[in-house]
Amino acid sequence: MKDDNFLRENNARHIWHPMGHPADMQANPPKIITGAEGVKIKDIDGHAVIDAVGGLWCVNLGYSNDVVKDAIAKQLYDLPYYSAFAGSTNPTAIEASYMVREMFAEDGIARVFFTSGGSDSVETCLRLARQYHRLRGEPTRTKFLSLKKGYHGTHFGGASVNGNNRFRTAYEPLLAGCFHLPSPYTYRNPFNETDPAQLAQNIAQMMEDEIQFQGANTIAAFIMEPIQGAGGVIVPHETFMPLMREICDRHGILLISDEVITGFGRTGHWSGARHWGVKPDLMSTAKGITSGYFPVGAALIGEKVADVFENSDAEGAIFHGYTYSAHPVGAAAVIACLSETQRLDTAANAGPRGTQIFDGLKALAEKHDIIGDVRGGHGLMSGIELVSDKATKAPLDMAVVKKIHETIYQAGTMVRLVAHSIVMSPPLTITEQEVATVLACIDQGLSAA
Ligand code: PMP
Repeated sequence: MKDDNFLRENNARHIWHPMGHPADMQANPPKIITGAEGVKIKDIDGHAVIDAVGGLWCVNLGYSNDVVKDAIAKQLYDLPYYSAFAGSTNPTAIEASYMVREMFAEDGIARVFFTSGGSDSVETCLRLARQYHRLRGEPTRTKFLSLKKGYHGTHFGGASVNGNNRFRTAYEPLLAGCFHLPSPYTYRNPFNETDPAQLAQNIAQMMEDEIQFQGANTIAAFIMEPIQGAGGVIVPHETFMPLMREICDRHGILLISDEVITGFGRTGHWSGARHWGVKPDLMSTAKGITSGYFPVGAALIGEKVADVFENSDAEGAIFHGYTYSAHPVGAAAVIACLSETQRLDTAANAGPRGTQIFDGLKALAEKHDIIGDVRGGHGLMSGIELVSDKATKAPLDMAVVKKIHETIYQAGTMVRLVAHSIVMSPPLTITEQEVATVLACIDQGLSAA
């Protein structure tokens, strides 16, 4: 390992970081994170902070789970890689698929297609949705509906259904036939609707209108996150996802639940769809499936879709997949991570700790006028939107937002910025005391504004 001087000198010099400007990276080099323990990360200066971001919404078990680490290490020695393209498989992939299917059986999931991450899983769901309709004799169903503010990864399909133009504009033209409905974002929406239940109804009506306009027989699927994460933690009313399910059913449109963040306990339930009492046709997952310890994702296939593929002719062959689909080491990480997730019952902790953060943030909103909106209350996904004027909801100046972010870090907590919002998704293992520390750090940061 090179020494600290080498690391500081070469930081961001030879690498382009995702989601950043290469020139800015040089001017403001990223923090060098050198180690981690429990829910804390440590930087090159030796400064240790609570990671209230969970890496990137993924380190659900915290950083010190030796069961997962040992399983990964052992598998590297037993079989570090073999292809899972048709014709060969490996023992950990067989066991991991069994386990994942069992865990999502209640959601109507029948089959598992492993990928290398969230974007891959989304792409797989979008492709399978189109192929499903083709197999059913409706090849005109090719379009996709999604929500503004939704995040579905960076592949061209995922970026096309993505509802934030920051991830789209530079890469246009994107996939044709993708249409976006408003986000169930009560704080700001085109209807100026402040009642979340009414907002859900308004969007449902727009969805109906859009389906009539496009023609139901042209639409393959509707994709949504049960709680929008990267869009700034936007929690819909409890009626929203069931309404979307009902509309999709009535028009023969598949419902894809993008569970890359919400899967595996983050909302306090095993899946975000289950949290809202909905059974999706397809689910995209990643992140918490290995707690971020190894890059794995999975597209989960519901019974209805699986039936059509499994009873089809040669057209039902899946000419899609990744070199690292069902990677034996990744699959070993999945088995260990999901066993640990169940043993520690992290979903049961996510509920009360999420409520603690939400209540704490609401209390901070009483004290700090710059908090315009507080979001969360459904497990360990929370956020605050910062404004310079509560009446006009004018976003807080980004220089001030960045100062707050850095002050919170110096005080002892890593949080994440989504434009002028601060979002949190800590490990699901976080304790009551640690949550109290996170809230105290945020308080300190906001006081520095
Ligand atoms: N879908 C959702 C809901 C996500 O939050 C993300 C990543 N944050 C993705 C897809 C893409 O996942 P990945 O970055 O692993 O490709």
